[in-house]
Amino acid sequence: MALRETMTETATDTAVRQIRDEILRRRRFLLTSHARPDGDSIGSQLALAFALDALGKQVRIVNADAPPEHYEDFPGMDRIEIARSVSPEVDAVLVMECSDLGRTGVSGLEGQFIINIDHHVGNRFYGALNWHDESAAACGEMVFELIQQLGVPLSIEIATHIYLAILTDTGSFHYSHITPRTFDICRQAVEAGVNPAAMARRVYDSNSFGKLKLIGALLDRMELVDDGRLAVLYLDDRMLASCGCTHHDTEGLINLPLTAREIQAVVFFKVASDGTIRVSMRSKYDVDVRSVASEHGGGGHKNAAGFTVTGPLGEVRRQLLDRVVAAIREGLQTRPA
Ligand code: 5GP
Ligand code: MN
Repeated sequence: MALRETMTETATDTAVRQIRDEILRRRRFLLTSHARPDGDSIGSQLALAFALDALGKQVRIVNADAPPEHYEDFPGMDRIEIARSVSPEVDAVLVMECSDLGRTGVSGLEGQFIINIDHHVGNRFYGALNWHDESAAACGEMVFELIQQLGVPLSIEIATHIYLAILTDTGSFHYSHITPRTFDICRQAVEAGVNPAAMARRVYDSNSFGKLKLIGALLDRMELVDDGRLAVLYLDDRMLASCGCTHHDTEGLINLPLTAREIQAVVFFKVASDGTIRVSMRSKYDVDVRSVASEHGGGGHKNAAGFTVTGPLGEVRRQLLDRVVAAIREGLQTRPA
């Protein structure tokens, strides 16, 4: 029974039932998510893959980039194919966590029967079926609901991936959007055998020595703006190389400055050798960095958003920081006590 069974049929109920029906009458599936996958994209895809296995379906998972190394020993990770273009012979493509199809970084999906499952603001409804629920704390919450609708029991593999998705996409239960439903799903995952302490260790205490060095280097170069309310981090390939790190080692580092009480937002510039700048932003409470990202063609959530631009860094930085400072001032007005 779906968690949200109510007297009146909501848009979510209709969407999830339509998706269930289309899945049940189709046989071959390709699952994908966004490039540079995170815990929610990995967890959502793998949980659904195990559920489709249980229904006897044929499943392929294709991602543009390899998963972060420390997720490698999670169940089923060897099933993920890494490719930037496919010519799939499948009956449906399930795209999770992507506000538009381009976010997959995988070409060849256009023209397929696409099922779009996402919780990001600004989803473009690019699928034949679109289920968009901004209230979900993680796409994994939506996948959990779909799996229930499909009538598949919560195996330890499915529960592990659902928990991974929620744990990481809530920033280990730091972000907004956490609801009783979030904990209800986690409760069921724990009942199915997930060990929260072990999960936290596997996900968060998995740094390499190189990553510890990188943390030192990043914080050493950290800049404070607006009386310390905004922290700015910079990273380029040289810093990565000198710490013996790759881009995967940067996951989560953006959150470090937020552990300082005064800091309300972080802007993280990752400058690639070809001049491309990946901008990631994080914020506390009502400081809305998504709207800043969307002005630059990006997106995300109120407290976690990003976009990509081509340099020069000085110019991007000047424009952006003023805008984020304004967002901080606006957000502080409605800050909860
Ligand atoms: P991150 O900083 O971890 O790369 O991304 C933070 C959040 O913003 C994630 O939810 C991610 O999906 C979203 N995001 C990051 N970059 C982009 C982008 O270029 N476009 C859109 N639509 N969302 C993005
Ligand atoms: Mn997500």
